[in-house]
Amino acid sequence: MKTATIVGGGISGISTAYLIKKYTNYNVNLIEKNNIGGKALSVKTNGYLIETGPNGFLSNKREIKRLIEESNFESEVIQSNDSANRKFIFSSGKLWEVPSNPAKLLLSSFLSTKTKLNILKEPFVKPRLDDETVESFVKRRLGKEFLNKVIGPMVCGVFAGDPKIMSMESNFPKIKETERKYGSLIKGLISLMINKKANASATSGGFSSKLMSFKSGISSFLNHLSKEIETINDTVVDLKREKIGYTLIGEKSLYNADIVVFAVPSYALQKILKNYDYELSKILNQIPYAPMSVVALGYENKGLPDIINSFGYLFELIEIKDAIGVLFDSSIFDFRVKKNRVLVRLMIGGQLAKEAPFRQNIIESAVKELQRSASIFKPFEFSFVKRHEKAIPIYTMEHKNVLEAIKEFELKNSGVFISGNAFHGVGLNDCIKAAYQTLDKIKGGK
Ligand SMILES: Cc1cc2nc3c(=O)[nH]c(=O)nc-3n(C[C@H](O)[C@H](O)[C@H](O)COP(=O)(O)OP(=O)(O)OC[C@H]3O[C@@H](n4cnc5c(N)ncnc54)[C@H](O)[C@@H]3O)c2cc1C
Repeated sequence: MKTATIVGGGISGISTAYLIKKYTNYNVNLIEKNNIGGKALSVKTNGYLIETGPNGFLSNKREIKRLIEESNFESEVIQSNDSANRKFIFSSGKLWEVPSNPAKLLLSSFLSTKTKLNILKEPFVKPRLDDETVESFVKRRLGKEFLNKVIGPMVCGVFAGDPKIMSMESNFPKIKETERKYGSLIKGLISLMINKKANASATSGGFSSKLMSFKSGISSFLNHLSKEIETINDTVVDLKREKIGYTLIGEKSLYNADIVVFAVPSYALQKILKNYDYELSKILNQIPYAPMSVVALGYENKGLPDIINSFGYLFELIEIKDAIGVLFDSSIFDFRVKKNRVLVRLMIGGQLAKEAPFRQNIIESAVKELQRSASIFKPFEFSFVKRHEKAIPIYTMEHKNVLEAIKEFELKNSGVFISGNAFHGVGLNDCIKAAYQTLDKIKGGK
């Protein structure tokens, strides 16, 4: 029987291993140097369930939904509470509720008259066809204030990135495509809405975009997927081509495989491929990573401000000191806290606050951030910190060259596949989508 070896036991590696095992005849094993789950690790302690990485996924994401169904895990899925529909932005020293209908932005005093006029004039801004940074795109079409108060916080919240260096094409391909196709985002949005109405009866799902997760945390899904996968604890350090197949050189042992899937961060892959393909390893080195720490604080639910009954909030770019986002996990999902308790998770750092995740007194910084932004002065009863030195890969203007180099590498090295969040999207759903694509390539006999 032929062997498929997957390197890296995060969601990218585990979902790939699961799919290859389920849909091909390969004997599958997975090599992981630390814990199964990678960035997706749920910790249960003191009556709190803390997500030290991803918190959930949106209900309109297809591939994760498909994988949940194919692996019979639907009964564990939970949907966020209605209170999680309330989201805020901290701007000019105050928390502003984000309206559910974007058109309402024009009626609120959150944006200046100048920016509101920019929104109305957006359909007449000349489209630009080539790639550009997120900052340049948003400033050009909607102005600086819209970047600082709306898109910037979102980019920090989701990617922990700096809009100044992030590629529009690589991070928001659909938005860039809308500009190309319709000449304007607003025209594109209107056309999509009309189309959606026309197709509404033909769509089967009809999901609204709710945040979803699992009763026992994200880790439970990864444990479920990996339970029948043979897992080896080792660090892969090199790759060697054989007459038939490949040898993976681990710190503890050697592993022969007919096909190999790398699902490790780009900085780890760069080390593994240094001898095998120096040129690719140099290119992989170009991907920067944003650092981030997750600080979880637990409170007794008494005497806290009303804001805790919401999803949480992001910070306007010029308000970013240490935190880029605050999540009220106990309001988002049930099952996360024991009775009468509140769980707050702060995302500290990202590219705009690079030093912040490494502060020695990080809990003190987190408390200060909560005091200045949410007026939470009550002492916490519980705290937990998870530092991610390299939390999230940033797709810069060089990203398409990286993807091109990977494509060439896969063509030259039949049977070796490169996956993982450094390349085809950072969300859980993107990682799973890439796993389905790898499966298709394997079944297609590449
Ligand atoms: C704080 C935080 C919050 C997030 N929130 C969300 C969210 O709410 N929703 C969402 O969709 N996404 C979220 N994300 C993004 C998402 O969690 C990640 O992109 C995803 O989990 C990455 O999975 P991966 O398998 O590609 O990489 P990883 O999880 O990094 O896994 C790679 C694995 O490879 C292993 N490895 C490395 N080198 C070697 C080697 N040489 N040999 C063997 N093994 C090796 C590592 O130990 C690791 O386990 C968040 C990320 C972070 C950091």
